[in-house]
Amino acid sequence: MKPLEEFKDELEKCVRCGTCRSVCPTFRVLGRETACARGKLTLIGSYLGSEIPQSDEYVRHIKECTLCGACKGSCPNGVDTTGVFAAARADVAKNKGLPFAANLIFKNLVSPGKTVPLALKLASRFQGIFLKDAPAENGLLARFPLPLVGAVMASNRLLPPLAGTPFLDLPEVKGLGVPVAHPSGPRVAFYAGCGVNYLMPNVGSASIDVLKRAGATVIVPQGQVCCGMPAYSTGDLGSAREMALKNLEVFEAHSLDYIVTSCATCGYGLKKLFRDLLFEVPELRARVEAFSSRVRDITELLAHDLDFTGKGRGMAGSPVRVTYHDPCHLGRAQGVRDEPRELIAGAQGVELKEMKHPCSCCGLGGGLSLSNYDLSIEITRRKAESVRDTGADVVVTACPGCMVQLRDAMHRYGVKAKVAHVVELL
Ligand code: SF4
Ligand code: SF4
Repeated sequence: MKPLEEFKDELEKCVRCGTCRSVCPTFRVLGRETACARGKLTLIGSYLGSEIPQSDEYVRHIKECTLCGACKGSCPNGVDTTGVFAAARADVAKNKGLPFAANLIFKNLVSPGKTVPLALKLASRFQGIFLKDAPAENGLLARFPLPLVGAVMASNRLLPPLAGTPFLDLPEVKGLGVPVAHPSGPRVAFYAGCGVNYLMPNVGSASIDVLKRAGATVIVPQGQVCCGMPAYSTGDLGSAREMALKNLEVFEAHSLDYIVTSCATCGYGLKKLFRDLLFEVPELRARVEAFSSRVRDITELLAHDLDFTGKGRGMAGSPVRVTYHDPCHLGRAQGVRDEPRELIAGAQGVELKEMKHPCSCCGLGGGLSLSNYDLSIEITRRKAESVRDTGADVVVTACPGCMVQLRDAMHRYGVKAKVAHVVELL
């Protein structure tokens, strides 16, 4: 990835038209210029021209962004806004260092070894001291305000419970290090990602189940680590690069037709970020290309390659009305919009009712839910209201991160709809 100074050409492409303001979720809430892409590009230009320092205020404006990419998608001049913002974050991390907690987490996610499982086992055992069950919700609430990665966690914030056993440690998953199911079907390696592994192993199990029913030979390579997207969006490119390299080696050890994930953010990271991070090393390029070209979102693989549309089993309590939220990293970043809808609409007893602005950001991205939770959850208010207007029983999406944010928002804004992953309908 280029250093920030090399993005000067991108800054000059901006003609200050303001189109990006109309689609920006942070601008919609904050209503000031520094919240939108045009304002941030101006700030970054002033910083590169040595007109302003890299002050705390500058850093705050740079972080007031979900990296959703809506500005990039709407820009008539094709300014690579998110590329500039990611480089600006890396520049901040290089000059000021990372917050202590983020540094600790990323270093441990590079090589989970025994540290992460042990820490999570302890955390899952003692989470009841700090957190309590939310009645009728799939989540936990803080008993009192808690520090959370540099911010204070609101006591009415709904958190996902930590899995007692991570997905990759489930006995039935460990056995999938060697291929099973249909020896003649395509060989599909499942990439879990942190959300599925540590928070939603049920989404991982449902993914394996539907892949097998769709005729795939499923492999779950052990030793896979975080995709690197959280480290990348915090500006820690060194950790993100190490994670990419580790995953490359782990998956290269298998003969595969596809690498599939149920996480939109991981899919984007494996397809795109790997190239950004590892193409700098010429001898890695062919290997990275072979890896990234095999990556598919699970909805993409099921709808296109495995012809599974119309075969979903639906949900308990069918018929149900369902609405779909487009994760930014799937719809906008990967162009995968029709496939999840085809699978949902084709599932038994499911009515798909579109919400207004299904592709507007849920507010979680770019680390905003940690660095500025109030702004992040305020962005989700409009999403929650759109879900309520559809009268849907369930809001479905294809990203564990969006699911965490949507559950919190449904709870906070009093919307009855449950939150589920597409694979849970199949
Ligand atoms: S839409 Fe593009 S050209 Fe227009 S102000 Fe925003 S970044 Fe600049
Ligand atoms: S990436 Fe999204 S949140 Fe950030 S400036 Fe662009 S539209 Fe706004």
